[in-house]
Amino acid sequence: MSEKIIKSDKEWRSILTPETYNITRQEGTECAFTGKYWDHHEAGDYVCVCCGAPLFHSSDKFESGSGWPSFTQPHSSLVAEKVDRSLMMQRTEVHCDRCESHLGHVFPDGPHPTGLRYCINSASLDCKPEEDA
Ligand SMILES: [Zn+2]
Repeated sequence: MSEKIIKSDKEWRSILTPETYNITRQEGTECAFTGKYWDHHEAGDYVCVCCGAPLFHSSDKFESGSGWPSFTQPHSSLVAEKVDRSLMMQRTEVHCDRCESHLGHVFPDGPHPTGLRYCINSASLDCKPEEDA
């Protein structure tokens, strides 16, 4: 499971939609309230849209009001973090450790119990309903 998935830019471009490519490979951000999962309430695993790695779980999802799916914690060690100094501010970027897909950012203003808010692009995720597991 910890094996890295490495594809060329051209390969990613050929298997992803333009929007998904922009967000996951070029650190884009979808517009708030436009993604498919910010208001999604079914139980299930949220996996990486690029490589299928399990990343978040619906039990950690909460209503942040931000317009993006938000989680209090990752559901696996495959969610990796790095410091992002773009846009003149310091933020913590989160990505899939297996394929380097950009997921979103984590902010220190989340609810109990972690106090963290993983603010993730819907386009970076694929929700697998519980019954299919
Ligand atoms: Zn991935």
